Amino acid sequence: SKFGKVRTWNVVPSPDRGHTECNIAVLGTTGSGKSALTVKFLTKRFISEYDPNLEDTYTSEEIVDQQPVVVKLMDTADQDGPVNCERYLSWASAFLVVYSVDSRQSFEGCQRYLSAVTAHAKGLQPKTAIVLVGNKLDMERYRQVSQSDGASLALRYRCPFFEVSACLEFGAVQRVFHEAVREARRE
Ligand code: GDP
Ligand code: MG
Repeated sequence: SKFGKVRTWNVVPSPDRGHTECNIAVLGTTGSGKSALTVKFLTKRFISEYDPNLEDTYTSEEIVDQQPVVVKLMDTADQDGPVNCERYLSWASAFLVVYSVDSRQSFEGCQRYLSAVTAHAKGLQPKTAIVLVGNKLDMERYRQVSQSDGASLALRYRCPFFEVSACLEFGAVQRVFHEAVREARRE
C-alpha cells in the first residue's frame, strides 16, 4: 500500500524478544497536520494532500532509548471535535495533541482534546502520557500562536511541548513520536 502500512492485526507481540507495544493516538482539529506528521514519521516524506476524513492505524517498529518498541499510530479524523472518542481514549497509551502555529482556532481546538484526554484518564492513572505539538513551524510568518502560549499550555498539563514542521527536518518529527513513547514508559 501507499505508505507501507501494516494493519495492526498483523502484528504479533513477542515478549520473549523483549518487544513492547505503544499505542499512540494523534489528535487535533482538522487541518492541523496530523496526517502530514504521521506520514512524515512513517516515510520521512511530506505528503501535502491527504484525505481529511481518512482515519487509519499504522504500525512501525522503532528503537527508543536502545529499546525496541512496536509503535501503533492512530491518525484520527474527528468531524466535530472530541465527541465520539472512546475508540482512541481507551485504546491509546499516549497522545500526541497537535495544533498549527498559524491557526488560533486549532490552538483553541486542541485544548478540547487535552481536556477530553485528561478527563478520561482521571482515576485510571496518576499522569497521562501527552505530548503537545505546535505544527507548521515553517509558517512562522503567519504565526497566530506564540511559542510561550504553547509552552504555558504544556505547563498546565505537565507535558512535553515541541514546535515542528511536517515539511522540514525528519529528526524533529521523529523526536515528538519517540517522546510520546518515553512518556508512556514513564507511567
Ligand atoms: P489533518 O486534518 O490534521 O490530518 O491535517 P493534514 O495533515 O491533512 O494537513 C492539513 C493541511 O496542512 C494540508 O494542506 C497539508 O499539506 C498542510 N500541512 C500539514 N503540515 C504542514 C506543515 O508542517 N507545514 C505546512 N506549511 N503545511 C502543512
Ligand atoms: Mg488527517
